[in-house]
Amino acid sequence: MMYNGCVPEGHTIHRLARDHARALVGRVVRVASPQGRHSMQAEQLDQHVLECVEAHGKHLFYRWRGAPILHVHLGLFGSFRQSPVPPSPNTQLRLHAAAATFDLIGATTCELIDDERYGRLVGRLGPDLLAETADPEPVWQQLQRRATPIASALVDQRILSGVGNVYRLEALFVCGIHPERPARSLTRAEFDRLWQTLRVMLRQGVEEQRIVTVHPAERTNGAQGEVPLEDAFYVYKQHHCRRCGSAIRAWRLGTRPVYACERCQPPAARPRPTLERRAAAG
Ligand SMILES: [Zn+2]
Repeated sequence: MMYNGCVPEGHTIHRLARDHARALVGRVVRVASPQGRHSMQAEQLDQHVLECVEAHGKHLFYRWRGAPILHVHLGLFGSFRQSPVPPSPNTQLRLHAAAATFDLIGATTCELIDDERYGRLVGRLGPDLLAETADPEPVWQQLQRRATPIASALVDQRILSGVGNVYRLEALFVCGIHPERPARSLTRAEFDRLWQTLRVMLRQGVEEQRIVTVHPAERTNGAQGEVPLEDAFYVYKQHHCRRCGSAIRAWRLGTRPVYACERCQPPAARPRPTLERRAAAG
């Protein structure tokens, strides 16, 4: 499944974890590698009972009774396809139990790991925005130390996990924050709003299984029915700002495309009480 043709973001991963847990947890799962490259892993997992499926940022972890943890990272192009019969020849891993079949295709990582490696992997990741108990404090602390553009900091999985290119740009627009503002120039109020906005957007993505960030009242084609791509986003791949009519600016930040309305998201930060803040922090 692809979502709006975009790279999988945290909502995709959490939705997969939920769907796979519902269909497979507590069951004896048949595991195979039709493509053959992961035959050893498949053999070790085949006919074990799946205990739980966990999503952390863009990582998926499958825990089994009496077998190592399966770690999957979809990367840029990976996906799970549900019950295609027969499997496509490039299926890395097929998970099957009862009526459900999930085929993994194109994932960057598909490996078996132990608890120690799991601990190291998760330990390197920042809080997951979709976790019930996600704590904003360490994220705020990290951002305060960084002069990198806020748009880059938001997709740094060491700071925060689960946010990808579309959500970061859409949330920054909604909060009126220019993508190139230094992370540490954000006020606490701006950060709190950004955190909330991202959480709401990602949760909605889990439910709807696609990214639509534009509020129904602001959609040009009305709130009913399917949302066409051009009506799904405020700035991502858009030409004009639906709020002020200005041209949307598109450019590259690092290797990724970014979009912003520079009228709604002024580039220059407001004057900041840097010295006072440093004094207070020191
Ligand atoms: Zn605008």
